Amino acid sequence: MVTKAEKFEHVDYLWDDQIAASLDPVERLRYRSNALGSDQRITNTGGGNTSSKIGMTDPLTGEEVDVLWVKGSGGDLRTSTRANFASLYLDRFLSLENLYNQAEVKGVKTGIEDSMVDMYRHTTYGLNPAASSIDTPLHGLIPFRHVDHMHPVSVIAIAASKDQERLTQQIFEEEVGWVPWQRPGFDLGLVMKEKLKQDPDLKGLVMGQHGLINWADDDKACYELTLALIEKAARFIAQRDKGEKTFGGQKYQSLDEEERNAIFVHLLPKLRGLISQKNRFIGTVHVSEPVLQFVNSVDAPRLAEIGTSCPDHFLRTKIKPLYVDWNPRTESVEALIEKLEAGLVRYRADYAAYYEACKHDDSPAMRDPNPTVILIPGLGLIAWGRNKSESRVTAEFYSLAIEVMRCSEAISEYQGLPRQEAFDIEYWLLEEAKLKRMPPEKEFARNVVVVIGAGSGIGKAAAHRVAAEGAHVVCADLSLDAARQTAEELIQKYGVGIGVAGTGISGCGPAIALPVDITKRESIKSMLENVVLAYGGVDNIIITAGIFVSPDKQGYIPDDKWALTYAINATGPYLVADEAKKIWQAQGLRTSLVITTSANAAVAKQGSFAYDTSKAAANHLVRELAIELSPLVRVNGLAPATVVEGSSMFPRDRVISSLSKYNIPFDESESTEVLRDKLAVFYAQRTLTKSPITLADQAEVAYLLSSNKFSKTTGQIISVDGGLHEAFLR
Ligand SMILES: [Zn+2]
Repeated sequence: MVTKAEKFEHVDYLWDDQIAASLDPVERLRYRSNALGSDQRITNTGGGNTSSKIGMTDPLTGEEVDVLWVKGSGGDLRTSTRANFASLYLDRFLSLENLYNQAEVKGVKTGIEDSMVDMYRHTTYGLNPAASSIDTPLHGLIPFRHVDHMHPVSVIAIAASKDQERLTQQIFEEEVGWVPWQRPGFDLGLVMKEKLKQDPDLKGLVMGQHGLINWADDDKACYELTLALIEKAARFIAQRDKGEKTFGGQKYQSLDEEERNAIFVHLLPKLRGLISQKNRFIGTVHVSEPVLQFVNSVDAPRLAEIGTSCPDHFLRTKIKPLYVDWNPRTESVEALIEKLEAGLVRYRADYAAYYEACKHDDSPAMRDPNPTVILIPGLGLIAWGRNKSESRVTAEFYSLAIEVMRCSEAISEYQGLPRQEAFDIEYWLLEEAKLKRMPPEKEFARNVVVVIGAGSGIGKAAAHRVAAEGAHVVCADLSLDAARQTAEELIQKYGVGIGVAGTGISGCGPAIALPVDITKRESIKSMLENVVLAYGGVDNIIITAGIFVSPDKQGYIPDDKWALTYAINATGPYLVADEAKKIWQAQGLRTSLVITTSANAAVAKQGSFAYDTSKAAANHLVRELAIELSPLVRVNGLAPATVVEGSSMFPRDRVISSLSKYNIPFDESESTEVLRDKLAVFYAQRTLTKSPITLADQAEVAYLLSSNKFSKTTGQIISVDGGLHEAFLR
């Protein structure tokens, strides 16, 4: 017997009757949506929507009413929860057709069409705060209980082909109709309703340059129909695969992973600087066999110029990518950079010309004219976004667009969206309003902050502090386990975001963990190279790594420990700055370095020679680096004193020896935390502010010195010591 799952070769069949039976009707819709969204061949991240018309009790009358549950604005099918679905009284929603028909001027892109979106809120059932999307009429106006609207690669390939109507007929015969491209909205819903009126046997429609919509009165049947239609299209395409002749055949050869990464490490900071002069971007490197087959091909320049077709894709990928014609086997990296520079100048000019040619009187101002997708033969695809999640989505969308082009060119000729239509989506006033409603970007949203020493103490607190400002945080530490712990805490708190793309470390989320030994230049270099591969560059660095070797009563430590103290506390920050300098200079973007020194650097006393003198060297290193790295990098020092809370610098034996030294009564059986608190209270009493000094106090200043709030401060040491008059700098 052939099972349901075996009938599908090109899509994942995930429906489980037992699970579905245990769910209420709204949860069944959520379940169906998650199943559809989890297969990229069925729909892209954030793309498509689903709906169910469900009989429910009206809280006002107690009567049974039909409620349209439909995926709301924003959100993503794969990760949707019940909260992502809007709910509308179906009869009230349908009554909007009268309102629409009363308008003097109506039709696609008319004022009434856009103003209908605001009316959907008036039909809300059950005080549901989820906002309805512009696709709501596509679901509401179709008289079937369940509707799926997907963006499947194989169906978009048909919809983006020159002879899309004929292909639809050939593949689906009488089962599925075709509607030409039209910007989604109320009018498109009416067009579909009319189509169905003329041919009540239709099970779905191919939407020109867009995707697929289909329906059924049973939810499982609707799910299976969606899969069956996509499978049918995919099989038709697979039978016509061009094999080695795909994309006109291969023109260039790929580089192996090692060569490729060496080039990326060199190239990405430079490229990031070139496109980030207006706004900083975060990168994602995506290298897969299908992507390489495309970038290496004869047809890549022609197809890249046509641009992406699905409107959902190109809002992120822009109307077209920047393709650079470079031979990876015979040309140098320097030649590649020159070609990229020239290509970017051309791209921006093209974008400005497109804006000028297509703009309307009320269009929003031109947005950042830099490309968000860059294609390089032999290397792959580099995507850019305002944060890691967005750049992963962009990489995902263009790699899906490549699949669409491959499939379309196998059966016909690939066609892009007309430029004016593309513009009317990109600069749609409704989209602009959505952008304006978004909360303002956080200060470090477009920044990559490397915290060295992030596994514990001040470093861990600083990692959390900058993450709260939206930073992408590289948790670097001698102990990879400790670094991982911090990175996992951040990911737990902020989530990995959406988007399924990124090769190797570049597929990461908003935080990563890397091992580093700052006494070794090679280790620092390798850590920073991984940061570049993960995010495309490096912005702020905060160094909190340090060592205090407990001396004997006279303050002595063995000679090798003296050397180690200097290697970590003074030479380490220098090596980090020296290695980061190459990346910072390639980027050419203003940034900052914070080095943790110590109040001890300014106070001569007995008992900790090595530590105190190494920290004095670090203080002066701050000043010299501020001169050396000017004007690109501000360098400042954070000088803590006696933070005992959670500090690796205060292991139990040091706490006990300090308590004994100051004659503070304690019991050996007490926990380390209790002993630390006793010491903290004692230290607080020696300060001018008389309050214990916490990790949060230190992290706050590490963040402030990194931020633009201190944009005019460099070469300074800021003490966070509760006020120790003997440590005042003069
Ligand atoms: Zn769509």
